[in-house]
Amino acid sequence: MFGRNSIAFRHLRGRGNGAVECISAGVTRSGQGVDAAMAQGKAIYLDHNAGAKLRLAVADAMRELIGFTGNASSVHAPGRAARAQIEAARSAVAALAGVEATNVVFTSGATEANVMALSPVWVDGRGSRGFDRLLVGACEHPSVLSGGRFAADAVETLAVDGQGRVNVARLSQRLGELAAEGRSVLVSVMAANNETGVIQPLEEIGQAAREVGATLHVDAVQAAGRIPLDLARWQADSAAVSAHKIGGPQGAGALVLRNAGLHPAPLLTGGGQERRKRAGTENVLAIAGFGVAARIALDEIADWERLGVLRDGLERDLLHIRGETCVFGQEAPRLANTSCFAAPGMPAETVLIALDLEGIAVSSGAACSSGKVSSSHVLAAMGVDRDLARCALRVSLGPDTDADEIEAFVAAWRRVSARMGTGGAGRAA
Ligand code: PLP
Repeated sequence: MFGRNSIAFRHLRGRGNGAVECISAGVTRSGQGVDAAMAQGKAIYLDHNAGAKLRLAVADAMRELIGFTGNASSVHAPGRAARAQIEAARSAVAALAGVEATNVVFTSGATEANVMALSPVWVDGRGSRGFDRLLVGACEHPSVLSGGRFAADAVETLAVDGQGRVNVARLSQRLGELAAEGRSVLVSVMAANNETGVIQPLEEIGQAAREVGATLHVDAVQAAGRIPLDLARWQADSAAVSAHKIGGPQGAGALVLRNAGLHPAPLLTGGGQERRKRAGTENVLAIAGFGVAARIALDEIADWERLGVLRDGLERDLLHIRGETCVFGQEAPRLANTSCFAAPGMPAETVLIALDLEGIAVSSGAACSSGKVSSSHVLAAMGVDRDLARCALRVSLGPDTDADEIEAFVAAWRRVSARMGTGGAGRAA
């Protein structure tokens, strides 16, 4: 288990991720909460989908590189040493994604990788390939929903069912209509949802795309290191991954290509870095940390199933305490570490602050950025009642989460629930 006083754990305080900023907002107001509990070595961190704890081995590797001199594009010895760090990391990320090292393009994170992939122009050995429509799942991360470099009127949203899974029959139908109109299409669907953990039927989606010659991009951020990534099986052309979701540092990610010869037109142009696919001097420190995290994540992927036992026990306890609690996406395949639930009459904003004061860091199921909670587009797309969605909390476990921490969370939730009374009505669709 990670020492709670370790540099890596303290590193989590005040991070820039939107979901954690919400918790920090409560911390700032109260002047205690998670910050205070961390100082006492008691904090329980159950927000790994927002940002996983930095792995100790990653922190060690990065610490050794602080002060490292050398631009990876330089031919001298320090430059070659920087290049060696980057190429070792590239091999590790490629292994995690199940592709060749030459198919990995490092970026500043998955937001950049998604925006890079969502380009109306892709390039292959023969020239460029244009797309005039982008189809995105309704539950995608905002970096995908924004449509990347497509004009707003070229973007269509794909409906999901009550579990948050893309309706593949409707997708096939729409792809057939667009093909009949002579349109070329890029489809973007995530592997697993950040709020609910729901896993998309990517093989079926890939098959539907392939039948009409559409290109498929997958946001694999939450799936990486938790379930195997398999671009070939998904028939996906690219995938986005992020270092800080797998125990690496913030500010590093990658666009992974199934075929290095077919890629989106560069988002950043200038120098010839990343085989001319992404200009800009590489962040050696962050990329090296990403590589170490990727290696560990791949080694430990089988251990994630253990978290499913803890997560399922947690959900049983919550239902026992408040029978009207709804668990979202429970009937679909889900990531083993994620639970998104709501108890009517327990608004997430209030519960988050109450839990924070108990030294427990979770997230609201609602979208949260700049410290402001707004209702979740994911739950809305699933047809969840708006009032109930305002009560949604997300608990996301990490590799070192143990039964004691889950027990402490359940006990805290029981206390908060008792204080808030029996609550009102509301149902998941
Ligand atoms: N996609 C998903 C599903 C995410 O959960 C996130 C981060 O929360 C991102 C993309 C963006 O990743 P990054 O923080 O590396 O830009």
